[in-house]
Formats: sequence, structure tokens, C-alpha cells
Amino acid sequence: MLFEGRVSIVTGASQGIGETIAGELAREGARVVLVDIQKDKLEAVAERIRESGGKAVCHEADVARLEDATRVVEAVLRDFGRIDHLVNNAGITRDNLLLRMKEEEWDAVIGVNLKGCWNFSKAVIKSMVTGRYGRIVNIASVVGLVGNPGQANYAASKAGVMGFSRAVAREVASRGITVNCVAPGYIATAMTDKLSEEVKKAFMDSIPVKRFGLPNEVAFAVKFLLSEEAAYITGQVINVNGGMYM
Ligand code: NAP
Repeated sequence: MLFEGRVSIVTGASQGIGETIAGELAREGARVVLVDIQKDKLEAVAERIRESGGKAVCHEADVARLEDATRVVEAVLRDFGRIDHLVNNAGITRDNLLLRMKEEEWDAVIGVNLKGCWNFSKAVIKSMVTGRYGRIVNIASVVGLVGNPGQANYAASKAGVMGFSRAVAREVASRGITVNCVAPGYIATAMTDKLSEEVKKAFMDSIPVKRFGLPNEVAFAVKFLLSEEAAYITGQVINVNGGMYM
């Protein structure tokens, strides 16, 4: 197993891509710390992981709040004594054309998607530096690379995540810590299910592989970047998008 003895934090782990990543890491032997804003959904995910022989604990937290991130990280260090992996996956959309976008829609998306990454990275980095080991993977998006009408807030947050990752990657590279991004294209989850059929068709037409991606295809890239063997890969963005952006 790839991650026996490792401790992994995954945010936004109640459903979709985060749930799949958490399940994969548990299957590889990691003790997985599931973080999400709603505890009941999270408990159900943890229960399913434990039933299939994995190790999982839950922490309710709003990733947009530094005090929540600090509380979770302190509890994990108290309980397990280490944090090897951080996967900043929690994300939201509040779509609107710039003409109509409200300030709260901008702030909410930047707060969760970008500041959420900062909050959890800030909270874990000291223990990773002290332990001279760490893997941080931030979930970006193809939209942060190419833009998308109606998603100025989301595109800015995800482009920000990529810049943030490169800067931190440079800061901590000499301490055995890597910081990378996985940028999914259109993945079939609750987040994309709510799009109109027209928008879904427009996406499909732009995907050379001619299908939507699956959460486990994103999880596979995350697992690769979290592995010990990926030690010489840092500050990178791995695109998992069916060729939508090359
Ligand atoms: P999802 O199904 O909506 O899951 C996101 C999870 O994050 C949900 O459980 C959500 O909880 C949680 N969350 C939201 N706000 C939070 C907060 N403030 N604190 C803690 N947890 C919070 O989305 P997904 O499709 O799996 O997306 C996962 C990541 O991949 C996101 O960063 C997204 O931007 C990125 N991504 C997705 C796609 C795609 O096509 N699906 C493409 C590119 C990038 P609630 O449901 O309770 O709000």
C-alpha cells in the first residue's frame, strides 16, 4: 500500500471528487481526516470508509475560516502526531455575469476556493517543515486556465490557487515538501450536475475525449502527486480534462 502510516487531510470530502480522493487514500492505507462544512454527510462517508477496512475521522469546518483550519490541524496533530498530506479540494461556484455579480458572490468564492487553500496550507506548513516531509495538492480547474463566461469569481480563485501553489512550492522545496495542483476539466459531480443541458452540451463539444471525466480519474492524479516517488515534481499543474485544454 502506498500510504501506510501516512496522515492525510482532505477538505470538501463529503461528496464528489473529495469523497473519491478520501476513499482512494484510505484504500492505500492512509489515516484520512475528512473535512467538510456539514458533519452528517461527512460521518456517512467516514462510516463507508471504515466499513471497507479503512481509517477515517471527521472534522466539521468552514475552510474559509482560518480559526477552523487551525482548530482541525491542532486536533489532528494531537491525535496522530503528524500530517503528511493536505488536499485542498473544497470548492464552490456562485455563477453570474460580471454585470450582475454581487459582491457577496465574489467574496464567497474567493473565500472558500482561494483563502480556503491559504488557511489550511498556513495551518499545516509548520508541522510539515518540522517533519521535513509533506505533500500539498490543491484542486484548481481548467476554468482558471482558460476562463469561462459567468465565472469571473471562480476563474480568478482557481488561477489564484495555481499562483499560490507555485509561490509556496518555492518556499518549502528544500524541506522535502511539494506543492502541486490538479486542474480538472468537466467532471460528473453535484457541482456540474446543476448546469443547464445547453451548457453541458457546449462543454461536451469542447472535450476531445468526448465524455465527461470521473472523480476517480482526478483522484488518480492526486494519488500520484502525493506519492513519495513524486518528490521531484513541485509547482506543477496536472490537467485532467480529456484534452479540453492542452
Ligand atoms: P462538490 O460535489 O460540490 O463538492 C464540494 C464539497 O466541498 C462539498 O461537500 C461541499 O459541501 C464542500 N464545501 C463547500 N464549501 C465548503 C466550506 N466552506 N468548507 C468546507 N467544505 C466546503 O464539488 P466537486 O465537483 O466534487 O468539486 C471538488 C473540487 O474540484 C472543487 O474545488 C471544484 O472547484 C473542483 N473542480 C470540479 C470540477 C467538476 O467538474 N466537478 C471541475 C474543476 C474543478 P456542501 O455540499 O455542504 O456545500
